[in-house]
Amino acid sequence: MKAAMWYGRKDVRVVDIETPVVKAGTVKIQVSWCGICGSDLHEYIAGPMTIPVGTPHPLTGQVAPVVLGHEFSGQVVDVGEGVTHVQVGDRVVVEPVLSCGQCSPCQSGRYNLCVHRGFHGLTSDGGGFSEYTVVQANLVHKLPESLSFEAGAIVEPAAVAVQAVYSSGIRLGDTCVVFGAGPIGLLVIQAARAAGASTVIVVEVSEQRLAKAKQLGATYVINPQREEPLAVILELTGGHGVDVSFEAAGAEAALTQALECLKPGGELVVVSLWERGISLHPNLLVLNERKISSSAAYCRMFPRVMSLMTSGQINAEALISKKIYLGDIVAEGFETLWTDKSQSKILVRPR
Ligand SMILES: [Zn+2]
Ligand SMILES: [Zn+2]
Repeated sequence: MKAAMWYGRKDVRVVDIETPVVKAGTVKIQVSWCGICGSDLHEYIAGPMTIPVGTPHPLTGQVAPVVLGHEFSGQVVDVGEGVTHVQVGDRVVVEPVLSCGQCSPCQSGRYNLCVHRGFHGLTSDGGGFSEYTVVQANLVHKLPESLSFEAGAIVEPAAVAVQAVYSSGIRLGDTCVVFGAGPIGLLVIQAARAAGASTVIVVEVSEQRLAKAKQLGATYVINPQREEPLAVILELTGGHGVDVSFEAAGAEAALTQALECLKPGGELVVVSLWERGISLHPNLLVLNERKISSSAAYCRMFPRVMSLMTSGQINAEALISKKIYLGDIVAEGFETLWTDKSQSKILVRPR
C-alpha cells in the first residue's frame, strides 16, 4: 500500500510499504481523510522536532523513516481478538496519543502529559497518510452518523482547541482575544464562543483567515498590519483589557501582545508550538498578577468535541480549504501550506 513517510527535513516520500495486519487488541482502519497538521509542517520544514532519528522512541521503539498523519477518520476493516466496542464497517476517528500507563501523569489520568508520550503518525509504526493503519482499540472512537468523514478528520485538531478552552479559567460572559487564525485559532474561536465568551477578538495578518474568523464567530477582527492590536483591544473593552487571551500564532510579538491586552489578573493560554525561544519581560505578569498557562494535546476530549460538532457549535467543514490525493502531498500539501498563508486545513485522501 501507499504511505507518506518522513525521511528527513524537506524529505517526505510517498512509498510502497507492507499493509499492516491486526493483532489482539488492535483495529485496522481504511483511512478516508487525514489532515495535514501544523506539526507535520514543522517536521517537514524544520524537523526533526518529535520524530525519533537514530535513537528509538522510548514507547514505540520506532525510528525514522516514519509514516506521518495523525488527524484522520476512516472505516474499520478488521479487528483483533478481544476488541468489542467497534466492529467491521464502523465509521471511526482515532485519538493518536500514545502513553505508557505507568508514569506519574498517566497514573493520575493525565495521559496527554505521559513522560514517554508518542503519537500515532509521528513516532509510531503507522499513520493516517496511508491506505490502512492499525491502532490500539482504546484509541478508536465511533464517529456519529451526522458527522462526515471530512469532519471526522478535524476532530483531533478541534480537541486541541477544546482542551485549551476547557482548561482555561474562561467563564460565561468573559471577553477574550485569539492571536492567530490558522486551523487551531479558528477552532479556539468556536470553542470560546461555545464556552460562553461574549466577546472574541481575533488578531491575524491574513485577510482570508480574518474573513473565516468572522464567519466562525469572531466578534471583532484586527489585522496588525493595519491597526495596533493593543489600542483596539483596550478601546473595545472600555480600557480594561480582556479576561483571557489565547496564543495560537507562535510569534513573539503575538505572545507579548497577548499578555499586554489582559486585564489585571487575566490569563494567557499558550496553545502553539515554538521553533525557538523568545524574550519576555516578567513585569508584564508581576505588576498585574497576570497568569500564563498552557495546554498540550488533549485528554478525554474526543467525545466532547464530537458532541460540539453534532450540535453545530463547532463547524469543522468550514476549516477545510483544500482536498488532495496522497500522491500530491508534498507539492499540493506541504509546499502549499508553507507558501500560501490563506490556506487553512488541507485534507488528504489516500486513494
Ligand atoms: Zn496535530
Ligand atoms: Zn506515561
